[in-house]
Amino acid sequence: MAAAPDLGSGAERRGGSSPFTRTLKPESKIRVFLCPFFSNFKLMLVNFKIIFIYFFSLLIFLEIRSQTQQPYILVLGVAQDGGYPHLGCEKNCCNMAWKNDSLKRSVVSLALIDPATKKWWLFEATPDMKEQVNYFKTLTKGEYDYLPAGIFLTHAHIGHYTGLMQLGREVMNAKEVLVYVLPKMKLFLETNGPWSQLVSLKNISLKNLNTDSVLKLNSQLSVETFTVPHRDKFSETAGFKIMTTAKKYPFIPDIDKWQKWNKSIVKEVESVDLAFVDATFNEISELKNRKAKEVPHPFVSETMQLFTTSDPKTKAKLFFIHFNHTNPLMWDKSAKEKVEKAGFNLAKQGAKL
Ligand SMILES: [Zn+2]
Ligand SMILES: [Zn+2]
Ligand SMILES: [Zn+2]
Repeated sequence: MAAAPDLGSGAERRGGSSPFTRTLKPESKIRVFLCPFFSNFKLMLVNFKIIFIYFFSLLIFLEIRSQTQQPYILVLGVAQDGGYPHLGCEKNCCNMAWKNDSLKRSVVSLALIDPATKKWWLFEATPDMKEQVNYFKTLTKGEYDYLPAGIFLTHAHIGHYTGLMQLGREVMNAKEVLVYVLPKMKLFLETNGPWSQLVSLKNISLKNLNTDSVLKLNSQLSVETFTVPHRDKFSETAGFKIMTTAKKYPFIPDIDKWQKWNKSIVKEVESVDLAFVDATFNEISELKNRKAKEVPHPFVSETMQLFTTSDPKTKAKLFFIHFNHTNPLMWDKSAKEKVEKAGFNLAKQGAKL
């Protein structure tokens, strides 16, 4: 015979009730009462975890998305007007690049890219523009229009505007590409062939910039134009401050000397995020057959000297660009390391900044 079930003590039993009916202690009652709550609570906890993970992942996704939507700059060229190697140079500086295509560098140029609107702008129309537009297409995997939404030109020296010829009837026969220029540069293009033909055939549409004014490209991007002292024979020389919602990038590829400018380059760099500045020559010793007066530029050594007392954060904002073929910062590893160890940067072709 099976043992009678343990019905607990007499105190737990109540008269008249089935022997299998258990009368529970008050705490057990609470447990039973709370049981559905606890199981619901457990379920809630699991749900909460799922919701938390979902929202956390969503936040990460949105953050990554917003970062990939941030405007940025691509460096399309770093050399002085003649590019690297230089026509007529058979010295060591250029010989290595004549022999090795991977060492060749294009003339100074930047692309400003806005992933949110899928638009881009070109700074300088260099003699290498054909390669640079294609280089841009490669770097950005063909996600943007082939031609930029606009081209900004600093001045009328050959490295900075002659690429416009690629837009003419002889080549692309482009339609009204916007070209942003200061007034003297505009007049130069309008009144001198072959550039005037680009204007009359409407291959390009010139847009006037004003000194010390800001042009808004869209809600995320604007460009401030200013002038800098340079050999201004055919046009004035512009510098641009590219401004995105995240960063400010001044671009001054050509200037005679910092001391001739009405602004302090040190203060300017302190107030921005990243500055591209004239690095035509590293030292005066490079100018063997040229008079420094004929081709004045701040030597990189001079620019570095101006920042001697600046903190490392400020120094790291400087990106040297517009290297002449004679400048060892173009081709000499130890010279490059010296500048980088001092806390400055050398603009690299293809860099995303
Ligand atoms: Zn130049
Ligand atoms: Zn050379
Ligand atoms: Zn120049």
